[in-house]
Amino acid sequence: MDNENKKNEVEQLKEKLFSAPKNAAIKLTDEKIKKADKFCEKYKDFLNVAKTEREAVKESVRLAKENGFEKYSKGKKYKPGDKFYVINRGKAIILCTIGTEPVENGVRINAAHIDSPRLDLKQHPLYEDNELALFKTHYYGGIKKYQWTAIPLALHGVVIKGNRDKVIVNIGEDENDPVFCVTDLLPHLATSQMKRTLSEGIKGEELNILIGSRPFKADSGSELVKLNIMKILNEKYGIVEDDFISAELEAVPAFKAKDIGFDRSMVGSYGQDDRVCAYTALRAALKCENPKKTCVTVLTDKEETGSDGNTGLNSSYLKYFLIDLANLYGAEATTVISNSECLSADVNAGFDPTFPEVLEPRNCSRLNYGVVVTKFTGARGKSGTSDASAEFVGRVRNLLDTNDVIWQTGELGKVDEGGGGTVAQYIANLNIDVIDVGVPVLSMHAPFEITSKLDVYMAYKAFLTFFED
Ligand code: MN
Ligand code: MN
Repeated sequence: MDNENKKNEVEQLKEKLFSAPKNAAIKLTDEKIKKADKFCEKYKDFLNVAKTEREAVKESVRLAKENGFEKYSKGKKYKPGDKFYVINRGKAIILCTIGTEPVENGVRINAAHIDSPRLDLKQHPLYEDNELALFKTHYYGGIKKYQWTAIPLALHGVVIKGNRDKVIVNIGEDENDPVFCVTDLLPHLATSQMKRTLSEGIKGEELNILIGSRPFKADSGSELVKLNIMKILNEKYGIVEDDFISAELEAVPAFKAKDIGFDRSMVGSYGQDDRVCAYTALRAALKCENPKKTCVTVLTDKEETGSDGNTGLNSSYLKYFLIDLANLYGAEATTVISNSECLSADVNAGFDPTFPEVLEPRNCSRLNYGVVVTKFTGARGKSGTSDASAEFVGRVRNLLDTNDVIWQTGELGKVDEGGGGTVAQYIANLNIDVIDVGVPVLSMHAPFEITSKLDVYMAYKAFLTFFED
């Protein structure tokens, strides 16, 4: 064999035997790329109107109703193709499409979360200090605190008044609305602050939101700026200071979702972890007609604080729903649950060339390489993860490959670097096969996170394929 032939043989063997991931922008036709870009226009709209878990539920209901879903009525006999939804306390939602196969064969579950890191107001938030009015906050989820200073913030949430009336608050999103801001120290006077570690650069109790500076007009009296703010709030919302005690007010970045890059290939926005998977999961649920297996989409709350609480997936609300579903058809709930399969739709860390040291290049996810399948999350010896079986990974791999979904595998950081968890472990604990499938993100948990449009679209394709299979 001459040298030329030998070289060809090597190339052919490599092609046959080696793994060869390719950028989706090269793999896909221009037509498909256009489709993905178009898909993300509506995705950005969703990000702009659904910045909190409550708003995400509300928008999901609106879209679900538009697509033939009705509110679940307990005991009603649903037939194949019927679609309905159940809301949990306004902060989580389950959407269901009844399949043609009996529920004993198991259901297909897709679970994403709709809560994101933010600054929650404390229960006594309002105070005046040196003639400025501020709100005290307790941050929600894992944040790098310094990132939340000196950016415009909007205030979203609900206040339950003394008579139990509910007031909905959404201020800072409209072009003409005022916004709010956590202040930071000028560099000129930050010599000692700059010596703090990055995690202490801004401390939790320094995340105070500036909300006003003009005093109520009076010749004398204390706390006149606070009084003026309370007067404005009373006029606008009919609330008094004690009403903050029974409120959930969340300060979130006030800016809108935007295209990123000269090539407009990426989306930049607050709250893409995990509304990127919530939105794509929702769209898959809306699109899926007459599936074989009953399809269940869960958009849950409280993932960012560990899934505890009655709207988080460490509670029993999904299990109770599946028991109800089994009962509807006289099936054994344990059989239905044990035969079910689930995608835990959550994001992973995309490779960032500015910080290559935290990811292991052979096993991390990359922007534009498609939806990322994560066998295990966890940290340091795989603690706190469900670790999907080789069999289930094989099943998902085959499913995605046979349906032209571009996908990659990913690991959340180097072995001893850190890591994290998702809802997968809580679903696995119900004796359900589950694996993490989602979108790679840059600057995860920052006020402005980045995803690739092609990956977003591939997540949608993956979720739809899972339901339609
Ligand atoms: Mn997440
Ligand atoms: Mn997260």
